Parts: sequence; C-alpha cells; structure tokens
Amino acid sequence: MSYDLVVIGTGPGGYVCAIRAAQLGLRTAVVEKRATHGGTCLNVGCIPSKALLHASEAFEEANKHFADLGIDVGTPKLDLKKMMSFKAEGVAGNTKGVEFLLKKNKVDTFHGTGRIAGAGRVEVIAEDGGNQMLETKSIVIATGSDVARLPGVTIDEKVVVSSTGALELDRVPKKLLVIGAGVIGLELGSVWRRLGSEVTVVEYLDRVLPGMDGEVGKQFQRILTKQGIAFKLSTKVTGVEVGKKGGASVTVEPAAGGEAETLQADVVLVCIGRTPYTEGLGLDTVGVQRDDKGRIQTDSHYATNVTGIYAIGDVIAGPMLAHKAEDEGVAVAEMLAGQSGHVNYGVIPNVVYTFPEVASVGKTEEELTKDGIAYNAGKFPFTANGRAKANGTTDGFVKVLADAQTDRVLGVHIVGADAGNLIAEVAVAMEFGASSEDIARTCHAHPTLTEAVKEAALAVNKRAIHV
Ligand SMILES: Cc1cc2nc3c(=O)[nH]c(=O)nc-3n(C[C@H](O)[C@H](O)[C@H](O)COP(=O)(O)OP(=O)(O)OC[C@H]3O[C@@H](n4cnc5c(N)ncnc54)[C@H](O)[C@@H]3O)c2cc1C
Repeated sequence: MSYDLVVIGTGPGGYVCAIRAAQLGLRTAVVEKRATHGGTCLNVGCIPSKALLHASEAFEEANKHFADLGIDVGTPKLDLKKMMSFKAEGVAGNTKGVEFLLKKNKVDTFHGTGRIAGAGRVEVIAEDGGNQMLETKSIVIATGSDVARLPGVTIDEKVVVSSTGALELDRVPKKLLVIGAGVIGLELGSVWRRLGSEVTVVEYLDRVLPGMDGEVGKQFQRILTKQGIAFKLSTKVTGVEVGKKGGASVTVEPAAGGEAETLQADVVLVCIGRTPYTEGLGLDTVGVQRDDKGRIQTDSHYATNVTGIYAIGDVIAGPMLAHKAEDEGVAVAEMLAGQSGHVNYGVIPNVVYTFPEVASVGKTEEELTKDGIAYNAGKFPFTANGRAKANGTTDGFVKVLADAQTDRVLGVHIVGADAGNLIAEVAVAMEFGASSEDIARTCHAHPTLTEAVKEAALAVNKRAIHV
C-alpha cells in the first residue's frame, strides 16, 4: 500500500493532520494502537476530565448553591456509577466522531503499533502479531505523551493512581493526596473534593500552576483553599508505601531539606507531568534525534533530522496541549501539500477547567520582567462586573498586560467563571496585533462577563469605568 502521508497516532495532533492532508488531496493513512481514535485527549485526558468536572460541578451546585437561588432539591445523592457512565458516553461520542471524520475524508485507518522501518516505510504490527508494510512519501509522528513517573513509586491505578486511574475510581476516597499542583492535579483534585474527598495537594515548588502568572496562581490557590483543598507547598514526596489493608503512607519533607512527616491517604494521585511517548517506534534504528527530555527534535517545519520524517504534538517541544497539537497537525499537513502552514506560539491559550476557571494567553508579568520589557497592567475584578454580581460568581479578575510604548497586548490572565471562553476574544485580538485601546474601544454586550475584559483593557490607561 502506497501513500503520500502516513500519520502515526490519532490524538488531536495526528487525526487533525490526517484530515487536513486529505482535504488538500494527499493520499493519507493513519496508524493507531489504541482501540479507539482521539489519543490521550479524547480517551483519558481532556474529554473525560471535563465530563467529570462538569458533572461534579453540577453536584456541588445542587449541594451548596441551589438553595441560594430559591431552588430546594433536598440533599442530592451521588450515583458515582451513573456519573462514570455519563463520562464514558461523552468519550464514546467523541471517539466515534473522529472515526466518522476520518472515513468521511477518505483517510485509511490501520490498527496496531506503527514502527518506522526506514524513511518511507511504516510497519503496522497488530495486537495478534500480524503485520503489514505501508509505503509512503512522508511520515508524521504524533505519538503523544505518557504519564511521568515518580522514581521509586509504583502506579497500580488502584491506590496509587495516575490521571488515568483518577478518572476511573469506583468510590470516593475519604482522603485523596495529590502529588503536583499543576493543571491536571488541580482539576482532578477539584473533581474528587466536590464529590466528598478531603484533598491535600503536595507541591515541590512554592506555588501552584507553575509557569502561569504568579498573581493568578496566588489568587487561585486562595480560592481553592476556601473551597476546602489543603496545600503543602515547597514540599517533596520522598516515598509512598501502600498499606496491606489498602491506603497509603506518603512521606514528605520540606523541599529545602528538614524534618520528614508521614501523611495518610486512601488514594494517592501522581500528577507530576507527562513525558513524550516514543516506545516501539524504532527511532533508534532510523536515527531520529531526541533531546535530553526524550522529545523528538524538529526544525520550524516539524522536520526531524531524517528526510521525510516529521513530528508534532506532545512528542515534540512546547506546551502539552491538545489545541497546540492540532494546530501543528494542520501546519505540517499544509507544508507537505506545498502551502505555508504556521503556528503562532506566542498566542496559545492555556485553560484550567476548575471553578472558577483560570485562563491565560501570551506573556506573564514574570516573563516580561525577566525579558526587560516595560509594560502597563490593567486589572478588573469580577466583584465589579454586573453579570458576575447577578450570577453570584464574583471570584477572580482579568489582567491585561500591554507594551508600555506601543500599547500592544502582550498577555492576558483571567481567574473567573467562564475564563476559558473569555480568553478567546483576547487570543483573536492578539493574533491581529491589537492594542489594549482596540479592546477597550470594542463594544462588548451588556450584561456579560466579557465586559470585565473590556474594563481591564480600559484600566491599562487608568480609565476603567466601573471601579
Ligand atoms: C487528564 C488530562 C487532562 C487533559 N486536559 C487537557 C485539556 O483540558 N486541554 C488540553 O489542551 N490538553 C489537555 N490535556 C493534554 C492533551 O491530552 C494532550 O496535549 C494531547 O492529547 C496531545 O495530543 P497528541 O496528538 O500529541 O498525542 P496523544 O493525544 O497522546 O495521542 C497519541 C496517540 O498515539 C498513539 N500511539 C503512540 N505510539 C504509537 C505507535 N507506535 N503506533 C500507533 N499509535 C501510537 C497513542 O495510542 C495515542 O492514541 C490533558 C491531558 C490529561 C492526561
């Protein structure tokens, strides 16, 4: 079988790449070793976690806030099994959707592990051992990432779980200990806290959400603490021991060294990041170079050092986000079809889907200070936004950072209800090189939360109206 393009892996990077390539007239095939398409994102990542965040948020609303709205539903009862089938339905709907789209675009699909036998040759090894060889002009590796392990800690997906196990628990743990205060740990910690767990988050660094704006991190931690999540920052985990009767003892000590203490938990969630996944690809045989973190090295055209082999998504450098993988998939497909694909890495939104949400795009204050770029900051709290007041969702703020000389928007950071949707207008504005005044002079509908974005833009030049 002979193709223009074979894509290995059908996560958001791979399947989007294949569809775009097929749209542009390339004869395209995909190889996927999982039974369903959609990769980490649809099967064990973005989609199932968001389904549980949605369902657990509804549970908490009914439990704690409906009465304030004059709705008496009594004490809601959790049916965890049903909640898990709600999540599974969402996953199935999405993975079947990808299968349909691949078929609709006439992309051939092969199930099995893809191994690069040489430039232009991909061997598909099926689970039953059967194999077939695909000939192709180009290969795109989109094999994604896997959970990072903590040395000496075995993940059994029952007592010591990764994000995958935390999406499948069959009962609410009384005590959940989360190792790592990054996005995934805080999202899944929020899910189980809402469903009744006592949640403690242990983080090596002195802050939550490393890499995001510091002020946002501080405010967000305060909100999560108010919701009942306990934090142990600047603390390292030195050991996890699973008890004979279940549960685990987790030994921790100050990151800077000091006295150790032992914490008890029913379930320990290890959420310390993800590592690029290249197992079984045969990269050493063909000589594809990787960096010191195991990521496939590519140039700005996603080309590896071996002619005809490209890579995108979590398996290469950059933020491990589904939309980053998708955009790279489109870009490389367009380049292979002779067009000029492009990804603007300066404008990739980043969202934490807790309540409230956290969303950011562009530079943080810390990055601007480090780069020596003079900027003006405009901030607007949701306590002063009419719609937030009416909805009773006043936690958080919008912060716009604009170049001190040109007023060009360099970064926007939001903590607040629906922040993940609010960030989209700013991403568009930044793609068009908008100034804070451009956003401030754009008419925003009233009463909406988007008015807080406009007011923060006004605040850059100290002319916010509602504070
Ligand atoms: C719990 C969780 C929540 C997340 N939430 C979000 C979110 O809300 N928003 C967001 O943007 N990102 C989120 N992410 C990250 C997101 O899932 C990844 O960034 C994204 O899936 C990366 O896409 P990808 O196409 O590079 O790889 P993946 O989605 O990892 O897909 C790679 C695919 O390649 C297949 N594969 C691997 N090796 C081979 C081989 N040799 N042959 C054949 N197939 C192979 C794998 O089976 C897999 O299906 C989340 C991740 C997790 C774990």
